Amino acid sequence: MNAVMDLKVKTKYIAQYKNKYPLISKDAILNPDVLEREGSIVHLIDDNNQFISKGYYGKQNKGIGWVLTHKKGERIDFPFFKTKIAEAINKRQAFYEDENTNAFRVFNGEGDGIGGLTIDYFAGFYLIHWYSEGIYAFKDQVLRVLDELVEYQAIYEKKRFNSKGNYMDDDDFVKGMPGEFPVIVKENGMNYAVYLNDGAMVGIFLDQHDVREAIRVKYADGKNVLNTFSYTGAFSVATALGGAKKTTSVDLAKRSKSKTIEQFSVNGIDDEKQDIIVMDVFDYFKYASRHNLKFDMVILDPPSFARSKKRTFSAAKDYPALIKDSLSITEKKGIIIASTNNASFGMKKFKGFVADAFREMDMKYTILEEFSLPEDFRVDRYFPQGDYLKVLVVRKVD
Ligand code: SAH
Repeated sequence: MNAVMDLKVKTKYIAQYKNKYPLISKDAILNPDVLEREGSIVHLIDDNNQFISKGYYGKQNKGIGWVLTHKKGERIDFPFFKTKIAEAINKRQAFYEDENTNAFRVFNGEGDGIGGLTIDYFAGFYLIHWYSEGIYAFKDQVLRVLDELVEYQAIYEKKRFNSKGNYMDDDDFVKGMPGEFPVIVKENGMNYAVYLNDGAMVGIFLDQHDVREAIRVKYADGKNVLNTFSYTGAFSVATALGGAKKTTSVDLAKRSKSKTIEQFSVNGIDDEKQDIIVMDVFDYFKYASRHNLKFDMVILDPPSFARSKKRTFSAAKDYPALIKDSLSITEKKGIIIASTNNASFGMKKFKGFVADAFREMDMKYTILEEFSLPEDFRVDRYFPQGDYLKVLVVRKVD
């Protein structure tokens, strides 16, 4: 049993924590030095040593822990985890019952009441992400909860923290019957090849499922489409299945080519009729301009931050320039799908980036549709920053 640590909240942050802000940040705490072992239970207390909330100590890129409850008497034990995870599973019933979808998020961190923990479902497999050593300390409870609540072939995990142990993480397998990868999952009737045993990324970003569906149903038909930062080509698959004339996928990672061919092939799409190009996107823009290539639709989904040999890209700084580059190779009345997962700015600023880019190009636009995180990626209403995804479907007007 962990000893409970009292963390004194600095005066100016007390109101925020009384208003149920869930992330414990080091800046807000007067005595962070008392913290020793990750996974310890902490009480946030005010100026008068009165209880505000209870959480756990776990260092991740944001914060040093998460609030779990505002009830002083509530224990952070097996029943606590079971209740939270059961509630989350109940809220995903429509996903479990959807015959066309078997890949979705089951538990989304603080959005489901436990920051630092996510659980995804992939066709009979569960994948747990542990975002700190602190939440990892509760592994036994979480696994027992899954054993009691759901059926599965196997559980896999990703430790998103630097583990100090010097053992090799073989292949992220936790328990059950090891899978044979790729596992082919279904999302709104589209197939995706997924690897749970091959590094941090599994082949598909589930948070984009509504965007992929919209692209397939509403935007792709008959279009010549450029998909930049294409990774395994998930957007290209949606576009091709939606009736695109042709897709061009561009990513500088060498393995993106074979991965994209694989995603096409599990959907019965002939990859020979599509272009898959291993190249820096910014070089591709120059290449396309030189060769007078134009696209009816350009998809932009860069990482928040990327360093290549030639340059660094930061979404917060360079997004307007990225939109400008893509506008110069977009047909009249063409569509730009601009996406970012950068949590450091909100939708308003992102729309500002679009406005800046079009103004500088002396072009007009309308926003046809916008997306934030989908329903299974639940957001804590006291932590709107958790809603990091921003996607704009923009049409060039003339
Ligand atoms: N849009 C993808 C996810 C993108 S992940 C999807 O929907 O699945 C980010 C990708 O950007 C990675 O595959 C990485 O290799 C690629 N990347 C990063 N910098 C790049 C650059 N300058 N040019 C091309 N690709 C880049």
